[in-house]
Amino acid sequence: MRELFPPQLHVFVRDWLSANNILLKSRDGHVLIDSGYSRHVPLTLALLATTRGLGDEPLAKLVNTHCHSDHMGGNAAIARRYRCPIAVPEGERKLIEDWDDRALLLEYADQAAERFSVDESLFPGTTHAWGDLEWQALAAPGHDMGALVFYNPEHRILISGDALWEHGFGFVMPPDIDPAALPATRATVEMLAGLDIRVVIPGHGEPFTGVAAAIDRAVKRVASFEVDPLRMVRYAMKALFVFGLLDRRRMAIADIADHVERVGIYRDFNARFFRMSGAHLAAWLVAELERAGAIRRDAGDVVPA
Ligand SMILES: [Zn+2]
Repeated sequence: MRELFPPQLHVFVRDWLSANNILLKSRDGHVLIDSGYSRHVPLTLALLATTRGLGDEPLAKLVNTHCHSDHMGGNAAIARRYRCPIAVPEGERKLIEDWDDRALLLEYADQAAERFSVDESLFPGTTHAWGDLEWQALAAPGHDMGALVFYNPEHRILISGDALWEHGFGFVMPPDIDPAALPATRATVEMLAGLDIRVVIPGHGEPFTGVAAAIDRAVKRVASFEVDPLRMVRYAMKALFVFGLLDRRRMAIADIADHVERVGIYRDFNARFFRMSGAHLAAWLVAELERAGAIRRDAGDVVPA
């Protein structure tokens, strides 16, 4: 993977609970993009302290692609440790300053993050020198309406957050909840298709070079959502449930009905789209995710597979 990137760019590939961390090193000050999930803060700090990371050196700035809990959950701890400013996309700033639980999908979606303060806004269309490289901040609304991606034309590197993965992109709010989200997702994928990209550093998963194929898959996924918006609802609920299970590590199957009746986003989606009982919704989620190989049963519990 090393030869994919100039030597001052380091990618810490994480998992689905914590987004990848990208470290851009420079004598002018090191910059970190995305900080992982709150549960993983000790691991994130330990990775940053390695020689592949910062070692004993300071961090000049922490940047977020977008402000979901798996990307900004380590912000407060990193800012405390390194006394560095935090820059977020301008479209996210007010949500962070208001600590808008629902819009940030925190307790509303059974997720957690420590509150932090924003020092700088990143505006779409601006260019930033991070790690002695030029990064264009490009608006990438869809999964998150305020999200940015960062593009380096010289090395044709895209830091995509959750706007583009090797297989898909982060879940998108259904049209009944946010009518702008799916059209924005299509526009973002089409915008990315127009960039000359050699390698993508996604928010989750390994960096990849099969960019045209990934964009093709993303376009097909958008089209399948356009045909059947309920598919988006089912996908979002399943993605959120797996995320919650990665955080909790296990859940008693007997407790899931109560859980989906209590957590706001399941309650709201169910009331609007399915109108199932909690027990019925719980049974559906478990069956679907078990069939997909995302979770498995273990002595009356479900665990991530
Ligand atoms: Zn993410």
